[in-house]
Amino acid sequence: MHQDGFETLAIHAGQDPDPVTGAVVPPIYQASTYKQDGVGGLRGKELGDAARWIEGYEYSRTANPTRNALEECLLALEGGARCLAFASGMAASDCLVRVLCEPGDHVLIPQDAYGGTFRLFDKVLTGWDVSYRPVDMSDPVAVRAALAEQRARLVWVETPTNPLLGIADIAALAQVAHAAGSLLVVDNTFASPYLQQPLALGADAVVHSTTKYIGGHSDVVGGAVVLTDPDLAGRLAFLQNATGGVPGPFDAWLTLRGAKTLGVRMDRHCQNAQRIAEMLASHPAVSEVYYPGLQNHQGHEIAAKQMRGFGGMVSFRARGGPEEALAICGRTRLFTLGESLGGVESLIEHPARMTHASAAGSPLEVPADLVRLSVGIETCDDLIEDLRVAME
Ligand SMILES: *Cc1c(COP(=O)(O)O)cnc(C)c1O
Repeated sequence: MHQDGFETLAIHAGQDPDPVTGAVVPPIYQASTYKQDGVGGLRGKELGDAARWIEGYEYSRTANPTRNALEECLLALEGGARCLAFASGMAASDCLVRVLCEPGDHVLIPQDAYGGTFRLFDKVLTGWDVSYRPVDMSDPVAVRAALAEQRARLVWVETPTNPLLGIADIAALAQVAHAAGSLLVVDNTFASPYLQQPLALGADAVVHSTTKYIGGHSDVVGGAVVLTDPDLAGRLAFLQNATGGVPGPFDAWLTLRGAKTLGVRMDRHCQNAQRIAEMLASHPAVSEVYYPGLQNHQGHEIAAKQMRGFGGMVSFRARGGPEEALAICGRTRLFTLGESLGGVESLIEHPARMTHASAAGSPLEVPADLVRLSVGIETCDDLIEDLRVAME
């Protein structure tokens, strides 16, 4: 049977023309509640398959048609049994952990986890008696040893990591986790489903900050979870409805609009980032470059095996030290100084003082001479010139 490709799914999955008006784009259903045809008689059941995303609505915390269109699209892009969209990546992560873990459970997290994820485990979930331990996820042997020492309910992985672009072998970690009776969760924000599909490699759940590449235009905050187990997915839907961290219809619509062009944007992010990483690698003001597309990057081979491209994030260390790293961040013209990533416009930031400030003094502290780039899809020569001038 013919299988539609990624770009086709991004544009069409969950996005059948509106059965009422024929609109080719799913409408923004800006409604909190829905008329019921008699007590217990939800609308739309008779409309059949083509209208599945306008069926059976009662209240928009539970489900909303625009949000469902986004969920169907992301499900088609990641594979799995069910996708749920959230108000943010952190709302998605929090809800997922509280479905998968009970008080007393233990979790392995990456040594260089996203700062907000570290804060969630360190400052919030410990209060719920869920303990964590940071492990080097690029080393499956270290993960196996940690699991042998203490049983863990979850192994939480990011790859590539933020901001050091470490690579974890998802298939190997799935084996190690499952052999120890643990579940494997992959935060796929940095790669996006276009570059990497963790569920196909054995992961049990994928988390996204759709704020980043999937939204892609720095104009909306959102998150998503995709699960392989329908029972766990049902429990996640229950907890989401019970706690309410849902995106509004307009946010869901913006995210879906972004998802349509994910493939072409990612191709250009990858091309631009590769050229910039190569330029930085030969620049005298730079002591080290972190980009999985470089042959000498620690995780290059595994990244080449499990990713379709190496992504748009590049980090580097300033030879002149922390002061020089800060100065470079202040001198660019096109690279805008700002947190976040994954948008069409290029961003620059200083992780130790900005995105990763909350990790200071912890095992997740990052070097003070580090600069992180979210390479956008502007004309690459302009970006290279901008960096050259800033580093002079
Ligand atoms: C941004 C980010 C998050 C958190 O997502 P929000 O949408 O900001 O809540 C989680 N993981 C990674 C890797 C991120 O970059």
